[in-house]
Amino acid sequence: MQLDGKVALVTGASRGIGRSIALMLAARGADIVINYAGNTEAAEKTKAEVEALGRKAMVIKADVGDTAACEAMMAEAVKEMGKIDILVNNAGITRDGLLMRMKEADWDAVLTTNLKSVYNCTKAVIKYMMKARSGRIVSISSVVGAMGNAGQSNYAAAKAGIMGFTKAVAKEAASRGITVNAIAPGFIETDMTAVLPEKVVDNLKAAIPMGRLGAPEDIAKAVAFLVSEDAAYITGQTLHVNGGMFMY
Ligand code: NAP
Repeated sequence: MQLDGKVALVTGASRGIGRSIALMLAARGADIVINYAGNTEAAEKTKAEVEALGRKAMVIKADVGDTAACEAMMAEAVKEMGKIDILVNNAGITRDGLLMRMKEADWDAVLTTNLKSVYNCTKAVIKYMMKARSGRIVSISSVVGAMGNAGQSNYAAAKAGIMGFTKAVAKEAASRGITVNAIAPGFIETDMTAVLPEKVVDNLKAAIPMGRLGAPEDIAKAVAFLVSEDAAYITGQTLHVNGGMFMY
């Protein structure tokens, strides 16, 4: 299979899109490190599902917003799995509210978990990839980072930040055989969007040419492509996967 012998670390892999990415990469032959924040039961379930696909899996509980915790996580993963070939920066949160009323704590939490996390994990892993002279880094941005969304100034800023970070690090790492890309999902059916009122979801569907929200697997398949050998000449890009709701 395409990813046989590879080791992938996926942040926020206990649930939603991250879980789907972990399973998709495992189905293509990769061993998986499952990072999560607090939901041990869900992380262990993902681990069992990866193992049922015949791959090796381990779970690491670590806050991706914590720089030291990310360094420790990468060191632990390399010690246990021998290397990390693929990093998927997927973990993320929302703390929505109009800017006029947005609390500083909500700004800080979203920027820390969604953007500083990408710095933390990428910096901690890239030294191993530089030494190996190969690697794949994919970060999960959002359509909101490109088109904006009322009530999500913190989230939009973090997700747009990922796109700029991706371009800069892609330029730094290209000569070492490392590609760095982002994926900007549209609206995907997970716990994150389960809180949206039915009326909002109906309006969203009406704005999506394909007429449906995405499934986590729609994003996982795009990740599987970007981390494969077939995507060796693609770097610094943001791939929009959104059913046509926004065309860049
Ligand atoms: P989700 O269902 O809410 O799952 C979030 C995942 O992130 C969980 O595994 C959670 O772990 C983990 N996580 C949260 N904070 C963390 C932290 N500080 N450290 C480590 N892990 C942490 O979210 P999702 O919808 O799958 O979203 C995944 C990514 O896609 C996010 O970056 C999100 O912004 C992005 N995205 C989602 C959509 C969408 O429509 N769903 C659209 C565009 C982009 P626990 O289980 O331990 O809490």
